[in-house]
Parts: sequence; C-alpha cells; structure tokens
Amino acid sequence: MSEKKRRVVILGGGITGLTTAFYLQKEAREKNLPLEIILVEASHRLGGKIQTVVKDGYVIERGPDSFLARKKSASRLAEEVGIGDTLVSNTAGKSYVLVKERLHPMPGGSIMGIPTQIGPFITTGLFSLTGKMRAAADFVMPKSDPAQDQSLGYFFRRRLGDEVVENLIEPLLSGIYAGDIDQMSLMSTFPQFYEVEQKYRSLVLGMKKATPAPKKSPQSKGSKKGMFLTPKAGLQSFVDAIEERLEPGTVLKGQRVEKVKKTQTGYEISLNSGELLLAESIVATVPHQILPTIFADYPFFNEFKKVPSTSVANVALAFPKEAIANDIDGTGFVVSRNSDYTITACTWGHKKWPHSCPDDKVLLRCFVGRAGDETIVELSDDEIVKIVLEDMNKTMDITMEPELVVVSRWKNAMPQYTVGHKERLAKVTEQVKQQLPGVFIAGASFEGLGLPDCIDQGEAAVEKVLQFFN
Ligand code: FAD
Repeated sequence: MSEKKRRVVILGGGITGLTTAFYLQKEAREKNLPLEIILVEASHRLGGKIQTVVKDGYVIERGPDSFLARKKSASRLAEEVGIGDTLVSNTAGKSYVLVKERLHPMPGGSIMGIPTQIGPFITTGLFSLTGKMRAAADFVMPKSDPAQDQSLGYFFRRRLGDEVVENLIEPLLSGIYAGDIDQMSLMSTFPQFYEVEQKYRSLVLGMKKATPAPKKSPQSKGSKKGMFLTPKAGLQSFVDAIEERLEPGTVLKGQRVEKVKKTQTGYEISLNSGELLLAESIVATVPHQILPTIFADYPFFNEFKKVPSTSVANVALAFPKEAIANDIDGTGFVVSRNSDYTITACTWGHKKWPHSCPDDKVLLRCFVGRAGDETIVELSDDEIVKIVLEDMNKTMDITMEPELVVVSRWKNAMPQYTVGHKERLAKVTEQVKQQLPGVFIAGASFEGLGLPDCIDQGEAAVEKVLQFFN
C-alpha cells in the first residue's frame, strides 16, 4: 500500500459496520497502514437492531438478546473490546411448543425439529399417529435430486410430512426468521440439512450420525448452561465498548447517506446534511432495501427489491413473582400457526437470563408478527399489550397488571432469504465488483442475520478492503 492516506467510509453503524470499523482500524494500527476510516450512521445512536433498556434492575433487550456461543466471532470480538469477562450463558431449561391450546415439551434430541432420538418422538403428544407414521417415511424415502435451491417447507414436508413441519419445525424456524417456511431458501438458511440428506439419504438417521453425543462428564452433570451468551449489562454494552475503542472522529452520527456517486478517483458520498464525503473504498452495511436508493445510478441493485422483510414486535412485561398463579417449569415456548394465538413465542426471561430481572420479579418477553401475519405491529402499544396479555393468560394465570411494559416495534426489519437468495446475491456482488471497484456489501440482509454472522461479514469486509488496496 502506498503512503498516501486512503479513506474507507462505512455506511451504517449496526454490529456489521462497527465490526468493520473496529478491525479495520486495528489492522491499520498494527500494520501501520495509511488508512482513514469513517463510519456514517443515520440515527443518533450506534448499534442498529441492538438496543437495551436498563431500568429498575431489569435488563430488557428490544432487539437481539444474545448470540450463539458456538459461533466464535462474537465472543472473540467481545474479548477484543474488553467485555469478554461480562458474558453470561443462558440457563438451559425445558422449552415447549404450543399447539392447539396445549403446551407440549420439546421432544428430547430434536434438532430444529428433526428427531435424532426415536423414543421421545414416539411418545410426544405433538403429533398424531398418522403424523408420526408419515415422518417415519424418512427412513425409506430416497434422497432428493441435487437441486440448486428449494424452500425449507418443500424440503421438510417431503421428508417428514406436513404435521411435523406445522407443529414443530415451522414454529421453531419462525422464531428465528419470522419468515414463511414455504418461501425461505434451504441453501441460505440451513444448507447442512440438504448436505445430510445427500450424504445419508435419511434426514433422521443422518442427523443422528452427524450430531455428536452430548458429553456426560462428571463436571457437566447437572450443568444448566445453555447455548447462548450475552453481556451481563445488555448487548448495548457490547456496542458501547466497540465505540469506545474507535479512534476519536471515526463516527458521524445523525447523518444519513443519501447517494453514492462514482468519480474518477473513487466515490462521492452525499449526506442529508448536504455534506459530501470522498472515499476510495466503501463498505455498505445498511439493510438491502436502502441500497437501490443510495446507488440509484446502478440498476442492478434493484435485484434487492425482490427481497422481502417482515415486521415484528416484542413486548417485555414485568410482574411481581406472586402475580403468576400458574408458573411453568421452563424457559419459554414457540407457537404453531394452527393455534388460536397472536403471539408467536414467549421467553420466560427471569428463568432464561436470571441476571436480567430482580429476584422477586418475573420478566416475560413475548413476540408478535411473522410473514403473512404482520398487521399487529401497526397497532398501538396498549392494543398490542392487551392482545399479548390475553394470550399469556391462556397459558399462565396472571393475576396482576404488569408493573413495567416495553413494546419494541421492528418494521421491515427481518430480511427474508427466499429461494434463490444466494444466486441473487452472487449476481449483484459480481456487478458491484465490475462496476464499483472498492465497494463491498455486508450485513444481515446478505450472509446470515445472527450477530456472529454479521460479525463474520464485517471481518470478511476488512479482508476485502485490505486486498483492494494491495
Ligand atoms: P442493522 O443493525 O440494521 O444496522 C444497520 C444500520 O444502518 C442501522 O444503524 C441504521 O440506522 C443504519 N442506516 C440505515 N440507512 C442508513 C443510511 N442511509 N445512512 C446511514 N446509516 C443508515 N440475532 C442474534 O444473533 N440473536 C438474537 O437473539 C436476535 N434476535 C433478534 C431480535 C429482533 C427483534 C431482531 C430485529 C433481530 C434479531 N437478531 C438476532 C438479528 C440481529 O439482531 C441483526 O441481524 C443484526 O443486529 C443486524 O446488524 P446489521 O449491522 O447488519 O444491521
């Protein structure tokens, strides 16, 4: 890299943009690279979907509440920014599926709803005998023809039947993507299930073989540690720690990027304040629906107009412990679409994350809104809370009014990786490479929406920028 300072502008200050800024500056510092990094964020705060409310001893997450521990990039970043020792694991407890007014314990050994142990699957009340017999067809059914992509719904319905899909797999997947299982891409969400089918033919037998048996060491006996991690002070503390480690002057908040124009030497970025920023490289981490507007001179971004996003909301409700007459042993439940409920899931936050709630209180976090069922997000706070409480009272006898309510709406916030997502992304990325050298796209809309996936994409963007300058 020559000694002239090169400017990289990062669009968006969610976890993807912050990761990019942090690691790019780290590389520049450690390798003495002449880079200037600017991050432009439209709102007056950083973190994007990450937002924590800390109040009266509660830690309430409006957006994500944790990340998967086995995907290492998030814990690594937490260590890098000095909050690694504040990470806590969730308590692993019983979880349930609510089907037609009844809570059924999640069958033991099921992975995303795919049985890996036969016993719990035979005895569960989640499926009829016919449904179980249909699922058993997986043992003899041939593998599907190699395909570029197919919907999750098509794949699972074919292998395990509609009942297993509707009563177990759909509610679980909906909990992650708030999506329509019959539109979502298998290859962009769970390609490993396709690979298992191709390798072992039977999904059930394949998952059994491919899944390591749970460790039964004396130390782990009785351990209730779950698969997720979160900082004790809330995910916003993660964002704040990254921000503190960025060099002064890196972040421009409250400045919306309106347009990017190519110039002879790089790019000109127009902000809503009227200011123009020049850059030689750009990492765009804004949601996909913004890109066709920002890059209006490049119609190939219109491809992203085909990518839908769903709206969701969640409602945190806090009560004194004695308000719950019918407490349930577990950490939460998901709701099947064939149940007469509006909520799609509920987490018993005081049990799953004991640090997030005073000892004498109960914290419930209920979710509403999913593909095809999003109008509730438009209702007023009071209306949403009323509906949620009515639903909750069908499973728990709640005898008092909540003493704290936090309603968080997320409009068009969950990008949907529909069938053909990978091909669409590859097409746009190729055009970007050819027509906009030095521009890179990353973030939840593209290669995974979990926090570690976004962090991975931020790290990958750093590599691409460095390669570009070399
Ligand atoms: P964002 O967080 O959306 O950041 C993009 C940023 O760009 C925003 O700050 C926005 O203001 C800014 N921006 C937009 N337009 C412009 C512009 N024109 N100019 C400048 N800036 C702009 N993941 C998990 O791993 N675990 C969970 O428990 C979990 N739960 C979730 C619950 C909810 C309710 C939601 C909505 C998501 C959840 N996710 C979870 C997913 C995860 O939170 C997101 O995928 C991730 O935070 C997205 O990060 P990002 O940086 O890619 O995008």
